[in-house]
Amino acid sequence: MKAHDGMYIDGAWRPAAGRDTIAVVNPADEQVIAEVPAGGAEDVDAAVRAARAALPAWAATAPAERAARIAALRDVLVARKDEIAGTVTAELGAPLPFSQAVHAGVPILVAGSYAGLAASYSFEEKVGNSTVYAEPVGVVGAITPWNYPLHQIVAKVAPALAAGCTIVLKPAEDTPLTAQLFAEAVHEAGVPAGVFNLVTGLGPVAGQALAEHEGVDLVSFTGSTAVGRRIGAAAGAAVKRVALELGGKSANVILPSADLARAVAVGVANVMGNSGQTCSAWTRMLVHTSQYDEAVALAAEAAAKYGDRIGPLVNAKQHARVRGYIEKGVAEGARLVAGGPEAPREQGYFVSPTVFADVTPEMTVAQEEIFGPVLSLIRYEDEDDALRIANGTVYGLAGAVWAGDEAEAVAFARRMDTGQVDINGGRFNPLAPFGGYKQSGVGRELGSHGLAEYLQTKSLQF
Ligand code: NAP
Ligand code: MG
Repeated sequence: MKAHDGMYIDGAWRPAAGRDTIAVVNPADEQVIAEVPAGGAEDVDAAVRAARAALPAWAATAPAERAARIAALRDVLVARKDEIAGTVTAELGAPLPFSQAVHAGVPILVAGSYAGLAASYSFEEKVGNSTVYAEPVGVVGAITPWNYPLHQIVAKVAPALAAGCTIVLKPAEDTPLTAQLFAEAVHEAGVPAGVFNLVTGLGPVAGQALAEHEGVDLVSFTGSTAVGRRIGAAAGAAVKRVALELGGKSANVILPSADLARAVAVGVANVMGNSGQTCSAWTRMLVHTSQYDEAVALAAEAAAKYGDRIGPLVNAKQHARVRGYIEKGVAEGARLVAGGPEAPREQGYFVSPTVFADVTPEMTVAQEEIFGPVLSLIRYEDEDDALRIANGTVYGLAGAVWAGDEAEAVAFARRMDTGQVDINGGRFNPLAPFGGYKQSGVGRELGSHGLAEYLQTKSLQF
């Protein structure tokens, strides 16, 4: 695969300060497909300086001009969508149809939504005898994970551009090629030099240097709760803004009046898509005791049918980790009804679509984020019991409720401690705020709420 041997800083590809590299591996066959430079503190410093220097001019551009650049960026993502999908498939392992529809498709929607918002947002407001201006927070340090490699970049960079911020991005070490393609797209879209900068590298080296850099005003992080906690602590000590999109253990609550077959089918697909590597996946399916056995049979059948359509996990570490969780589920007394810990293929980091029955709410597989194709079915006695189980984790990112009547589902959803709930299947909305209650994070992404994260107010009194 094509790769740049440099960092995208101040509008050009520049050699890295050091000689370290990252080998990019295709997780479907474990072959090295490219190498990219592993940046360090010097590269991060150069990128932050470029972003700082570009800030005054970019912050002062008219919102309509920023909207035009974001629209141009969206158009480049459209023109290069096949290349993007192929690259995500090569370095993440997602099956090509999923890469085309989701990994390439969703960022186009999100970039388009911010082209619209940049043009229509009120950056100025009258409040009594004051004029309140919404001004960019400044230089953004964006740190992103590998599971939706382009979406997570666009969900930060598009609103930051719309707000008038400048950016330094440190993408995940597993998926740097998608990030390099994105930098090319930004360049083609005519975004001025220094407004967007890319430093590839390792989390504890380049990521940490970026999060701790004095020239960064806001750290926007998506990834594990463990790393997010550290980034939040460092940002707090430096009195720096921080946005954290962390893990989840979301509940799919099927009320007795629901269409059980549909709720189970959609629920299984939700967990198995992207090989279970989705922070908002509904990994706990809650079913009333009267329908439990039927739901288990339906879920086992749906998972078995999924079979070969599932891609590998991203790397050897995640492969070992997920299989370890499946073994732990068995050891704690959950009943395997589909899949299991054995690797289904000789080569590649594959895990079979796995379904556990007889899961109780306190088991490890019901509490911890597994980040693999593993679904747990939990039984409940009544609605209050279902609510206790649904809310009974440290997380609160997403969820689903199914009922015969929408109002019944809404009433239940309003009692859930979580940031997003899909009612009877729902549909993705790029304008709806996305983010966590409890330990799933701080702040929101997408839509106008996501834009507001990159703005600070200044009030003038008259
Ligand atoms: P991670 O380490 O939190 O990675 C997220 C990003 O943070 C990557 O760019 C990573 O760089 C960087 N990073 C790592 N350590 C850092 C540090 N000390 N300072 C600054 N940046 C740092 O996540 P992971 O190891 O890839 O995945 C582990 C688990 O996290 C998964 O099993 C899953 O449970 C969870 N996860 C959640 C999400 C989500 O969307 N909520 C996404 C991915 C993973 P490197 O790529 O070099 O590590
Ligand atoms: Mg890889």
